Amino acid sequence: MNLRLSAEEEAFRAEVREFLADWSGLDGYFHQGARWAEVKALFRAMGERGWLALGWPEAEGGLGRPPAWEYVLWDEAAYARAARNPLSSGIVARTLVRHGSDEQKRRWLAPIRTGDLHFSLGYSEPEAGSDLASLRTRAERRGDVYRVTGQKCWQSYGMNSDALWLLCRTGAPESRGAGLSLLVVDLHAPGVRVSPIPMLDGHDLSEVHLDAVEVAVADRVGPENGAWPIVGEALADERHIQFPAGRVRRDLEELVAWVRAAGLGADALARRTLADLAGLAFEVEIHALRVLDAMRKGRGAAVEAAANKVVHTEACQRIAAAALELGGPAALPAARLEFLWRQSLWETIGGGTSEVMRGIVARQELGLGASRR
Ligand SMILES: Cc1cc2nc3c(=O)[nH]c(=O)nc-3n(C[C@H](O)[C@H](O)[C@H](O)COP(=O)(O)OP(=O)(O)OC[C@H]3O[C@@H](n4cnc5c(N)ncnc54)[C@H](O)[C@@H]3O)c2cc1C
Repeated sequence: MNLRLSAEEEAFRAEVREFLADWSGLDGYFHQGARWAEVKALFRAMGERGWLALGWPEAEGGLGRPPAWEYVLWDEAAYARAARNPLSSGIVARTLVRHGSDEQKRRWLAPIRTGDLHFSLGYSEPEAGSDLASLRTRAERRGDVYRVTGQKCWQSYGMNSDALWLLCRTGAPESRGAGLSLLVVDLHAPGVRVSPIPMLDGHDLSEVHLDAVEVAVADRVGPENGAWPIVGEALADERHIQFPAGRVRRDLEELVAWVRAAGLGADALARRTLADLAGLAFEVEIHALRVLDAMRKGRGAAVEAAANKVVHTEACQRIAAAALELGGPAALPAARLEFLWRQSLWETIGGGTSEVMRGIVARQELGLGASRR
């Protein structure tokens, strides 16, 4: 297993760090919604360098770089707290590259590459999260349009996005994964209502109500009733950049700084806790690099990514909780750590829960239950 980056990739890391130095006060990793204008400006600046299309094929306007380049970019962006990777340039763009018509590529890839077009993922519903195949938002075909009605919820960045990458039912009600299609919906179209869902950390997710919204059949990506394998395949596109270790490195640094500032630097329990967490942060880094290694070898990395997600998100929770355990109420005014504690609570849910991730490892790696890879 190769857990090292090449000299060229390390040189790119240095270039990214230098670039991000100008964005050090942004804090868009956690506050993308509230700082959207600045985060969008950052994405545009990345777009000017071609960095939103690092891994796309050159024939589609990308730079054709291997996955490690994207990993480096988003790992550094996470460490700098600058931003998370936009869904548009990952899941959406890669799917368009593979399954979009020439007309769809012309319309959507160029503004995604420049950081001007942003998507929200419309997968989950109030009664369909882990069991996504049970979703009920319905698209009825009427000639060359679909009429879409239903409700999506928990959309990240929904309040600021331009379009919804909608997974909806075009087949019979009980068709599960065999009756789903992918539509691109303009979030400003008549019949679309986007409203905020406030989160414990002050961040807003959103819910999207669709009331007889008309979507052109030409805006369906892939075959009718053929979205399920496409959505599964798209998950693999972003596995190496979704939970970058840089976030955990930075959380730990903030905890160490707080321990010092709180005068606990010589406290035996604090030192023991920090040593354990430093080991955990190292483990997080190894898991992230295992995902990258699997991607480099052309594997989907489903198991590695599931393990990485569990270890990464639970490390975030343990680091933030340690400040409260060591400092008690005195830690609360250290606003950042208290914020990290509230924020990290949802990390184990979004993008698939820890239980579901453990199920993937159990089945696919340990051969418990269904198929072994
Ligand atoms: C911060 C955040 C951002 C999100 N962003 C988006 C987004 O952009 N777009 C989008 O469409 N959705 C988004 N989601 C929704 C997210 O994908 C779902 O919340 C998640 O998949 C869990 O679904 P659920 O909430 O319906 O919980 P449920 O699936 O109802 O799960 C409830 C509980 O049952 C457990 N459980 C369920 N199935 C199993 C199983 N098979 N084995 C063991 N335990 C199980 C779960 O682990 C959980 O503890 C986001 C959620 C969060 C918190």
